[in-house]
Amino acid sequence: MTEIRNCKECGRIFQYTGVSKICTRCQKKEDNDFNVVREYIYENQGATLTEVSEETGVDEDKILRFLREGRLEIVGEDSALILECERCGKGIRTGRFCDECAHELEKGLKEGLGKNREPMGTMYRAHRKKRI
Ligand SMILES: [Zn+2]
Ligand SMILES: [Zn+2]
Repeated sequence: MTEIRNCKECGRIFQYTGVSKICTRCQKKEDNDFNVVREYIYENQGATLTEVSEETGVDEDKILRFLREGRLEIVGEDSALILECERCGKGIRTGRFCDECAHELEKGLKEGLGKNREPMGTMYRAHRKKRI
């Protein structure tokens, strides 16, 4: 069964295959943008997000999305490109979380919800203690 959707990027109707939310034409453009951005970042390791965006003509939002999706990685130790961990705000190179948080989150998922009740109880007890 084929599904017809509107492209998230250009609004054109396209055949949704379950993979991409954008039409093939936009997908091609996005792949191209991705390659341009990646090359630019590798060649200009100290470039800021604004510079990368201006030089490549690709939206900052899109560049950030590439990074968040883990497709693009910030290179170089002193890179001016900044991506923050969504959990603790530490600078990261790719994805949404730093290594520690990713590890913590993975651990939390594996242990399930049972473990999550404990810190809640501790917080409650600490709160009560404070009031006494
Ligand atoms: Zn499109
Ligand atoms: Zn973190």
